Amino acid sequence: MQPKNIETIKQELLDRKKELEEKLTRMSKEKVTDDQVQDPGDQALTSTLESLKLSFQDTEIEEINRIVKALEKIEDGTYGICIDCQEPISEKRLKSYPNAARCLMCQELFEEKEGNL
Ligand SMILES: [Zn+2]
Repeated sequence: MQPKNIETIKQELLDRKKELEEKLTRMSKEKVTDDQVQDPGDQALTSTLESLKLSFQDTEIEEINRIVKALEKIEDGTYGICIDCQEPISEKRLKSYPNAARCLMCQELFEEKEGNL
């Protein structure tokens, strides 16, 4: 069973994704103005996007990726379900980790196992 407020969660994820994408677009434009004043052509934009990918705002890009995965799970009906025990993951946890695949208990067990390897 998915969380009751799945539509709200979905909307929040979409809003957050849009916000992040706008932020990245804005930053990439700022970077063009700062560094590429003499040559604002396609080439400049391409290299700016490349350096964007490589160097900065990894956290935003990672968050977008996490949101995209969470949205995919909402679409296929597995969002908010622990992959180990099939129990719903708490809303609080999903808020902090929108792409959480395990409930807190299973995550702790999982990490313990990892640590013992
Ligand atoms: Zn679990």
